[in-house]
Amino acid sequence: MASSREDGPAATATAQQLGSMSLGESTEKKDSETGTNTKNGTPTKKEMCSACGKKSSTLMKCRACKCVWYCDKDCQNKHWKEHKTECKPIKKELDKRGGKLDLGTEEDIGPLGKLPPKEECPICMRALPLHAMLQTYANCCGKFLCSGCNFQHQVKHQRQATKKGQTPLPLTCAFCRTTLPDSDEEILARVHKRIELKDPKALRNMAMYYGQGDLGVSVDQAKCIDLLRQSVGLGCPGAHYQLASFHHTGEMGLEQNEEEASKYLEKATEGGHVPALYNLGCIENNSGNSTAAMRHWRLSASGGHKRSMDALISCFDHGLLCHGNLAKSLQAFHRARAEMKSEDRDVHIAYLKRTGKYREEYDL
Ligand SMILES: [Zn+2]
Ligand SMILES: [Zn+2]
Ligand SMILES: [Zn+2]
Ligand SMILES: [Zn+2]
Repeated sequence: MASSREDGPAATATAQQLGSMSLGESTEKKDSETGTNTKNGTPTKKEMCSACGKKSSTLMKCRACKCVWYCDKDCQNKHWKEHKTECKPIKKELDKRGGKLDLGTEEDIGPLGKLPPKEECPICMRALPLHAMLQTYANCCGKFLCSGCNFQHQVKHQRQATKKGQTPLPLTCAFCRTTLPDSDEEILARVHKRIELKDPKALRNMAMYYGQGDLGVSVDQAKCIDLLRQSVGLGCPGAHYQLASFHHTGEMGLEQNEEEASKYLEKATEGGHVPALYNLGCIENNSGNSTAAMRHWRLSASGGHKRSMDALISCFDHGLLCHGNLAKSLQAFHRARAEMKSEDRDVHIAYLKRTGKYREEYDL
């Protein structure tokens, strides 16, 4: 079982709640040569501030949950809105235990694996958001753009279009600047073109048009499944996930078959599909294998998946997950969330909220 890192001298902490941090620096000397801390001659590793992402060996640990690190109170305050939903249940459990981090009943879940590199938005070069509604597939260049970049591009276009004395230019793709299609037929023609280029995402999209009867396409379940299988053949994790979902519910003319569903989920996870990892964890958990479940959830939490992190916190509360593993997962979770954050994305989400278009489930 992994043990939790030493807290450092509790020392200078002051108030409770938000201000409840312990300084980890007072007895750790900075090695000016290597830039690492040394404690009894052993180098200690740098931690990452969960708020600003800065790495340092002189951060302060949240004293309530003893899981995450911050530069200072400012950083902790900034992050509290996000962290409180994690911090409170962990602290509550620790209080119940009289501050004891581990109960000794935790399972050994082994080392954390690595997710394949996340697909990035080609404009801002940040990892794409997890929810499909926060990404846009550009059927011109075949790229997935983040909603932040796409929204910014549209806003700029709108501004330009309302400037007096200027002929509004047609709306273009935020990445390749191709004029956007303005009819269903044109969209379908573009997607067909992408399919000819063997674009697995285009195949999956076309499959869903047939499945749901979008863009004026008549519903054809067999065609939907056929296109998804073609997309799967080209290694699309999203298509694997979709087929898993149809097998699970017995939709789209498929028989309900959990074995098939799990097979497709496994394949989706190999491609780094984070929600698939979460679901696989749920399946393991439902069949009583909490160790395997936690292994899956830990990986998906390290991809920034909130529900997986919540599941891990619940495992900790039940004495299944040791505190050290919980802390590492929470740190990796925040790192991934930071990679998926940008000012433009926040602006877009604020816009969705303002206009009543935001759904809680977008925050996977
Ligand atoms: Zn910071
Ligand atoms: Zn905390
Ligand atoms: Zn972007
Ligand atoms: Zn494009």
